[in-house]
Amino acid sequence: MNQTEKPTALIMIFGATGDLANRKLFPSLYQLYQKGNLDRFAVIGVARRSLTDEQFKQNVKDSVLSAENSSENIDEFISHFSYHSHDVTDSSSYTALNQLAEELDNRFKLNGNRIFYLAMAPEFFGTIAEHLKKDGLTNVKGFKRLVIEKPFGHDLESAKKLNKQIRTAFSENEIYRIDHYLGKEMVQNIEVIRFANAMFEPLWNNRYISNIQITSSEVLGVEERGRYYEKSGALRDMVQNHMLQMVALLAMEPPIRLTTDEIRSEKVRVLRSLRQVTGEDVGKYFVRGQYGEGVVNGEQLPAYRNEDMVDPESTTETFVAGKLMIDNFRWAGVPFYIRTGKRMLTKQTKIVIQFKDIPMNLYYQTEQTLAPNLLVIHIQPEEGITLHLNAKKFGQSLDATPVKMSFANKGINGMNTPEAYELLLFDCMRGDATNFTHWDEVALSWSFVDNISNAWRNMKETSFPNYESGKMGPQAAHELLEKDGFHWWPVTTLDVETCN
Ligand code: NAP
Repeated sequence: MNQTEKPTALIMIFGATGDLANRKLFPSLYQLYQKGNLDRFAVIGVARRSLTDEQFKQNVKDSVLSAENSSENIDEFISHFSYHSHDVTDSSSYTALNQLAEELDNRFKLNGNRIFYLAMAPEFFGTIAEHLKKDGLTNVKGFKRLVIEKPFGHDLESAKKLNKQIRTAFSENEIYRIDHYLGKEMVQNIEVIRFANAMFEPLWNNRYISNIQITSSEVLGVEERGRYYEKSGALRDMVQNHMLQMVALLAMEPPIRLTTDEIRSEKVRVLRSLRQVTGEDVGKYFVRGQYGEGVVNGEQLPAYRNEDMVDPESTTETFVAGKLMIDNFRWAGVPFYIRTGKRMLTKQTKIVIQFKDIPMNLYYQTEQTLAPNLLVIHIQPEEGITLHLNAKKFGQSLDATPVKMSFANKGINGMNTPEAYELLLFDCMRGDATNFTHWDEVALSWSFVDNISNAWRNMKETSFPNYESGKMGPQAAHELLEKDGFHWWPVTTLDVETCN
């Protein structure tokens, strides 16, 4: 399908009464509809609870109204929705689901195209995929695609098992594994910044870059997700997918073409070049943390161990910092530092590329040390880039002073950035899998992360909690960089006006 063609499909959302469907999927579909990006479409919501079509349509309407400022065409939009009450473990109900799908296919002229979106707990993914095939739902004359939410397994073994199950019904190019970070505007912008600018790509290597830092921090704690988080922790929840995907985009070679296969194969090569850290070495490269209590904005916050559904002696990490080495020609010797966690000082995702110092400082006589050049990519909540340079101090002296040049997405074009899910749903409907993760990426990421979790399992952490709520993680995360002569660049905001 070319870029201007509008997609046509029946979308079956499994888990249609859940949080993800209501907060993200329905509003994103509405946005696509409003922008005229959907041609012919219908949605079947699937979940156990008993709802009439009318009740379900009202739920969809409510979720759109609570997320969007507009309600234009909302009744027309929800007329495309139907509901099927169905326990996905109940074999007898898939036939009725298929009948409904066929009826909608005829009514809305959907060409037999079907998208199965699994917005449910991962333990059901395999069962659903097997039933879809066995009960004929994948037997269509158009395309069939499976969209799968994270987590894709909880280690390499379970991911392999899940992959095998879904591959019985879908081929690799029909599987769209969501990593919603890949739908973020500024994550997609990493490639453009790198490959469309003569001033960055020639410097994008170990001769000119000293280190790269990726921070993804949250202010919130575990909230009501204690049960899930206890089994996951920050390593599986954030590092295996989002953090490693950002590393891959930053470190990959330029693809020969901007096709899905070429881009993915370059990312896979990065993941293959990651230095594997095992056993006792894990302590040299990775730091884990768990938040304790703290006072943030005058509010007393509980420690992780006192949160709902959390073991009072839990050793689950709510913070990870790591030093990743990519052992290839371009990156040998350049550390990629990552850190992510909950209950930290700010909510932000940011990448800092620190360039090496220039060969000689001409300003040494005035005892000036020059600030290093930094390129900061602000992923969220701010979106944009900031370049930190040195320039002449205004006035008589010849001294240098740091200046910042910034570009902010919102500041410049006044546009609301589309929600990541909107972009990803649209990509999936058009058959563009570039911003979804290929099985090879998932497998390599798990094998890297499994080494770390195995080592941690063998060294039971006794010093938890080890950072106060509202701080940027434990002291050891700072020492990780200090040992190499670096430090985490502090939290800065994207200030578009600054160009001094
Ligand atoms: P949720 O709020 O717990 O929703 C689960 C949905 O599954 C509900 O609609 C539930 O409806 C349905 N369900 C449960 N058991 C069922 C069964 N046996 N048969 C049919 N339907 C069943 O979960 P969620 O937060 O939306 O998350 C869904 C998935 O997305 C998970 O894999 C999660 O990890 C992932 N995810 C969520 C978010 C998010 O922002 N929420 C972000 C990233 C990834 P009934 O009770 O009516 O059956």
